[in-house]
Formats: sequence, C-alpha cells, structure tokens
Amino acid sequence: MKVPEEIKRYCPSCNSHNMHKVKRVKTAGRAKAGLKKRDRHIREKLNLGYGGSPKPLPANSNRYGAKTSQKIMLKFTCMKCNKAHQSTAPKRSKKFEVVR
Ligand SMILES: [Zn+2]
Repeated sequence: MKVPEEIKRYCPSCNSHNMHKVKRVKTAGRAKAGLKKRDRHIREKLNLGYGGSPKPLPANSNRYGAKTSQKIMLKFTCMKCNKAHQSTAPKRSKKFEVVR
C-alpha cells in the first residue's frame, strides 16, 4: 500500500477540503489477546468429536494463527488549522510506505 505524503481531504474543523499531511500511527494493542482466544476456540472446535489426543494442525496452513498483514491506521494533519484527525477504519496491508 502506497500513500502520498500530502493528500487533499475534508477537514471537519475548517469545514472544507484542505491539504493534509499523512502520518502512520499505531493501532490499539487489543488484537493480540483476541487472536489467541480465537485460536484456542478454533482448535477446540477442530477437536470436537475427536476422541484421541489433540489433532495436529494441518501443516503449511495459513488458515490458523496470526495474520501476516498489519493494520494500518493513518493520521491526517490539516496544514491550514494544524488539527489532526484519524482515518476511521484501519486497513490491512502487508507492505506500507509513504511516497512523495
Ligand atoms: Zn483544518
């Protein structure tokens, strides 16, 4: 994912479209614990009705475990009023760079 360094965007405080500076911010760190819990749940479901020792997870499978992509959250700083606002929903991407 490539994002330009400056972008024209709506500014709620100026109530108009202005040039904004783009900066990447970290997303909230809640995802890790949730992933672990979901993983456990998936594994428990897999072993339901299976009367032996825990069934091994299929090899070379990327259906389980942590995702390889990262959540990307952007912060836009208005160049006119210097106020910042964040992008609403974080998007997922393996690679991320801000291009000039
Ligand atoms: Zn503004």
